[in-house]
Amino acid sequence: MSLDLARPELLEPRALIAGAWIAGQNRSDVTNPATGEVIAHAADLTAAEMRQAIDAAHDAGPAWAARTARERADILMRWHDLMLDNQEDLARILTAEMGKPIAEARGEIAYGASFIRWFAEEGRRVYGDIIPGHQPDKRIMVLKQPIGVVGSITPWNFPNAMIARKVAPALAAGCTFVGRPAESTPLSATAMARLGHEAGLPDGVLNIVTGSDSAGLGAELCRNPKVRKLTFTGSTEVGRILMRQCAQNITKLSLELGGNAPFIVFDDADLEAAVQGAIMAKYRNGGQTCVCANRIYVQDGLHDAFVERLGEAVAAMKVGPGLDETNQIGPLIDQPAMDKVQAHLDDAVGRGARLVAGGRRSDQGPLYFEPTVLADIQPGTRLLAEETFGPIAPVVRFHSETEVIAMANATEFGLAAYFYTRDLGRSWRVAEALEYGIVGLNTGLISTAEAPFGGVKASGLGREGSRYGIDDFLEIKYLCAAV
Ligand code: ADP
Repeated sequence: MSLDLARPELLEPRALIAGAWIAGQNRSDVTNPATGEVIAHAADLTAAEMRQAIDAAHDAGPAWAARTARERADILMRWHDLMLDNQEDLARILTAEMGKPIAEARGEIAYGASFIRWFAEEGRRVYGDIIPGHQPDKRIMVLKQPIGVVGSITPWNFPNAMIARKVAPALAAGCTFVGRPAESTPLSATAMARLGHEAGLPDGVLNIVTGSDSAGLGAELCRNPKVRKLTFTGSTEVGRILMRQCAQNITKLSLELGGNAPFIVFDDADLEAAVQGAIMAKYRNGGQTCVCANRIYVQDGLHDAFVERLGEAVAAMKVGPGLDETNQIGPLIDQPAMDKVQAHLDDAVGRGARLVAGGRRSDQGPLYFEPTVLADIQPGTRLLAEETFGPIAPVVRFHSETEVIAMANATEFGLAAYFYTRDLGRSWRVAEALEYGIVGLNTGLISTAEAPFGGVKASGLGREGSRYGIDDFLEIKYLCAAV
């Protein structure tokens, strides 16, 4: 299949180390989940090559840190502009390797680029502090300095934006970067890196190490003493492994882990707005985002009308290849994802859930699942306890505010939560009571470069985006001067 790229060289199967494009000894196939076709043979690198990349980042560090923030920002702004100039090519590569509808892929490129712009701007405002001294002859100063080499491990569901969100604050702060993209989506990372290089990033400042040995590459990033910070987005299970490995050198960590987002609709909500919000929060990326509504709770008075409206809207959604503009739900990423979605559905139906819409594999191909709505979910259903990462919306009836807050918080996770109400007092009470890092009030879309994204409890450590997002890449140095 030809991707019809305006710049075919952006489809880059090689990795980037120290400014050189590396094909490696071995290759791994990158397949299009929509068709099963092989799109490219990506470099399948090893821990030894990871070490070279870390060395390159380490060597490039001092010169990059010594540039002015303005010089770094100018390069980042050029990178941002190049990403938008090549938005269509980047979106086509992204959809081809991971399946999301092309309109969502274009949105992801713009979203990823927005982080590069945001942190190019923020990097110029990394202010220190002067603190009144504790003795007459003492002056206390606070300097903020780049932390050093940053290692990054990212998942396949946002192959561009998850890297952008990490690389932008790192480089803006004066750190250098070694990124390891998910094995199934290396091409969005290398395409971005080509543009970064073109924008003027010096050799070694940005390195992308592709490969299938997740554990080996990850262990090197965690245990190599030259890496001073690891930033990870992925599952809580892998986050725990990385945290243990980072204990060795007390490597700083940012973790964006799993979620189990509740979506709550109170009786006083605007029904139509809540249905539209639920569709956005549930079915974006086919349900494969860590902030996707995983459990929908609707109060007695609106429950039946909500289920009916959501069922109608979902039944009208089109499933098929992401490169076809008319489709709203693309393929799932792989067979294990499909098996999990099917198992969650079977478990819910086996326990007495009622099928309102969808509920089966689509005839579009082996990885397509129809967007699904289930009602009358029984306690103990797996859908309520585990992140499904697929297009199934389980709707649960509730009676009182106290009851629904208890249900919403009854999870180890705490990433995103959503609720719909028009009552001002309730807005405050519920927003404060939800044990989540991100809360959407009367909206199903919460991600933006201006806001701090991140979770509490087992959903992670640190925040990405916003003015807080650069702090994770800076060390504070306190200077005490006797005058
Ligand atoms: P997801 O469910 O989103 O795939 P994972 O946590 O499995 O979440 O994967 C997120 C990223 O972590 C991917 O790039 C994956 O290859 C990588 N990964 C998986 N296992 C390990 C590991 N043991 N060490 C380091 N990285 C890993």
